[in-house]
Amino acid sequence: MRADLHAHTTYSDGSPLPEMCRAAEAAGLDAVGFTDHCIVVDDEFGRRERYDLVETYERRREAIERFRPRTDLTVYDAAEVSYVADAEAETADLLAAAEFDYTIGSVHFAGEYDYTTASGYADASEAERRAAVERYFDAVVAAVDSELFDVLGHLDLPERMAPLRGHARRSDYERVAAALADSETVPEINAGRVHDSLGRAHPDPAMLDAFLDRDVRFVLGTDSHSPREIERRVPALREVVEAHDVPLTEFEPKTVVQ
Ligand SMILES: [Zn+2]
Ligand SMILES: [Zn+2]
Repeated sequence: MRADLHAHTTYSDGSPLPEMCRAAEAAGLDAVGFTDHCIVVDDEFGRRERYDLVETYERRREAIERFRPRTDLTVYDAAEVSYVADAEAETADLLAAAEFDYTIGSVHFAGEYDYTTASGYADASEAERRAAVERYFDAVVAAVDSELFDVLGHLDLPERMAPLRGHARRSDYERVAAALADSETVPEINAGRVHDSLGRAHPDPAMLDAFLDRDVRFVLGTDSHSPREIERRVPALREVVEAHDVPLTEFEPKTVVQ
């Protein structure tokens, strides 16, 4: 693993950029991509203002540019953009204006569903949980089909939450794999819960054959928010790649200025 394409700084819910870079260097990486949360439209869960990279990306760009001479790492100026189906035009406008080195498209919420907290599902019936998960994969397929993003983030996020875990079906992974096979978008193996609630990477390694069948290849992201997470998750991702023989692709961000 040479590059971690998914890490957060204080421009969203992560840690100071120099500390994240030092951890990436110590983990033996050649490159790290800062993918702070970017939410283009107001969402009913109120996260637009908390993660306002739309307003702050230029400041963060200056901070990245100031830091680049101080490291041998390739540091990417990137973003994790929440995909919202009815905001594709606004998203395209922002991405055209911002010219990030690359973007991760992630489904964090869809319609009335929030996939970042389990609290809303504790009292849900089995059918309601399945409906929430199915809606998630609908949105993932739409995000891939939109061709807005370079990378598809944590493609089975509901697995992180106990009430929704186990409600994804092989057919869900297969339709995501089919969409990816027809798309320029590349999925990531995400280590965001590799030591925590889930105890494994996304997508479920048991489903990898659905992607292999269609010759889909992956990039790697630790989804780290602290230096300690980079330190622990880089070796964990290396193990996942080795244990499951994950097919990787060399990812070339579009507009790297070093
Ligand atoms: Zn995410
Ligand atoms: Zn993330």
